[in-house]
Amino acid sequence: MDELNCQIYGCRRCQLWQGAKHAVPGEGANDSKVMLVGQNPGAEEDETGRPFVGRAGRYLTKTLLEYGIRREEVYITNIVKHTSPKNRKPHPDEVSACLPYLQEQIRLIQPKIIVLLGASAKETPRIAGIKYFEIVHPSAAMRFTKMREKFKKQIAELAEQIKQIQQSQI
Ligand code: URA
Repeated sequence: MDELNCQIYGCRRCQLWQGAKHAVPGEGANDSKVMLVGQNPGAEEDETGRPFVGRAGRYLTKTLLEYGIRREEVYITNIVKHTSPKNRKPHPDEVSACLPYLQEQIRLIQPKIIVLLGASAKETPRIAGIKYFEIVHPSAAMRFTKMREKFKKQIAELAEQIKQIQQSQI
C-alpha cells in the first residue's frame, strides 16, 4: 500500500496534479471489509491530503458513527485522487487515468463491501464476490431533507450488512 500511495503522490497521468496541493490516496484500515468511494477531493481534502474531511466528510463521519460504524474501521477513498478546478466533476479521461489506482486499492484491501457515494463513484471497477452499495452522496444528504432520510436509511442498511459479515467471521 505504501508503494501504491507513493505512486499516487507523484502521479502525472492527467493534468489535475497541476492545480492540486496534495494527492489524496485514501485512508483507513488496509484490511477493512468495507471501502467507501467518493468522487474526488475538495478544497479541504486537497489542503490536508486526507479524504472526506470537509463539510460533507464530517457529516459522513458523524452519520456513520450514529449507526455504530467508526471511520477508522472502513477505508475511504475517491475515484479520482486529485482535486479539480473549482471542484468540477472529473472528466472521463481523468477518471480513466486514475481508475488503475482504485483497482489496485481494491486488490490490496479485498473489501467485502464497496459503498459508492453518489453517481460519480459508479465507475468503480466491479469485481465478482464484492457487494456494491450505491448510496446518496453526503453533500446531497446535507442539503436536501428527502436525500438525508434516504442516506440515513442506506447507512443503517450498511451497518446491518457489516454486522452480518462480522458474525459470519466468528
Ligand atoms: N467529496 C468527495 O466525493 N470526496 C471527498 O474526498 C470529499 C468530498
